[in-house]
Amino acid sequence: MVGGLAGMTGGLLLPRRAFAVGVASALRLSSTGARTRLVLELSENIDFSIFRLAEPYRIVLDLPELDFTVGSGGSPMPGATGLIKSIRWGLFQAGDTRVVIDLTDAADVKNAFVLPATGVTPHRFVIDLERTTKDKFLAQVGPQNRIGKQTLPREAQAKPDDKTKPVKNPANTKKLVMLDPGHGGVDPGAIGASGIYEKIITLAAARQLKSRLEDTGRYKVVLTRDKDVSVGLTERRELAHDAGADIFVSLHADSIANKTVRGLSVYTLSEKASDAEAAALADQENDADRIIGIDLSRETQEVRHILVDLAQRESMNLATRVAGRLIDQLRREAMMLRTAHRFARFAVLKSPDIPSVLIEMGYLSHKEEETALKTESYRAKLMAAVVRGLDEHFGAFQSAQRS
Ligand code: ZN
Repeated sequence: MVGGLAGMTGGLLLPRRAFAVGVASALRLSSTGARTRLVLELSENIDFSIFRLAEPYRIVLDLPELDFTVGSGGSPMPGATGLIKSIRWGLFQAGDTRVVIDLTDAADVKNAFVLPATGVTPHRFVIDLERTTKDKFLAQVGPQNRIGKQTLPREAQAKPDDKTKPVKNPANTKKLVMLDPGHGGVDPGAIGASGIYEKIITLAAARQLKSRLEDTGRYKVVLTRDKDVSVGLTERRELAHDAGADIFVSLHADSIANKTVRGLSVYTLSEKASDAEAAALADQENDADRIIGIDLSRETQEVRHILVDLAQRESMNLATRVAGRLIDQLRREAMMLRTAHRFARFAVLKSPDIPSVLIEMGYLSHKEEETALKTESYRAKLMAAVVRGLDEHFGAFQSAQRS
């Protein structure tokens, strides 16, 4: 994929920044089924217009002059995704930035709008593309068929003093990690080969991880439970939300009938589960409102759905990245399952606004692994790996924010 100014050098003769109204700091692409979504993070709310070009299929975005920090040492340039083959941009004329999206196939613009910034998120320009027929695409080609700025979501306004959503720690302050020791109280979780309860192992590991994270000086840590009590799954999520957590890490240890199976794995939410959750939330206006921190009371159900879906997708993208970093580090300390990154519909992972991962630290049904997990020094190695993984995640995040 080509980033930057390739093929658009005409504008380079003009002095840069003369008219720049803002900064485009991150570009994300995602694809589900027939739909491909582009999200561009912006420092300002902007006007835009869109038109199509054929042979090859392209979508052109005309925006006010923006400084793109994407791909140039800042946030990464995404690879080809769904209907989008590549993206490039440049100064088209003084005051105007043009973005060209090269398509893999004929595609229609299903939605295009700017989400105003909230206390937690920057302004975001969102475009949803859907596959269409060649004839339909060709019928709308050329700048004469521009789509102007859609006011969707029409009335959405950032609520500056929104009390329902805790404002997350700004960059350069401590990240808030919510640790969730699995099970507890009347629920022992898995029972090990020698009789140890999962709830004991998970709490011991969480306490170790808490002190290791706090020792770095970079994290504030809260536990969903710090003793042997029952905590509901929804309650665990709500505790994280109310604390304004930057990440949610649930700790578990597994058990299985086949006693030769061993190894660690990291779970994130499966896409189907997340879609269902987003749909359910969008139907409950107040919850959706609470989650994304903007006033949705005058929005249609479709718009609410898009907004909640967007928030959830961003959390899932982050969770996937965290899971990858955790696995890279854990692999250095312990045996992993062959497919180390797994997807499931675990209820504790369903926060739409907090990246959430669940670490299965091993199998208590495997004799050696159970013995290891009962040992403080073995758990210490695993938890040190988790600290390194989180450090990598937040380190990369902060250097991207600084640029
Ligand atoms: Zn468990």
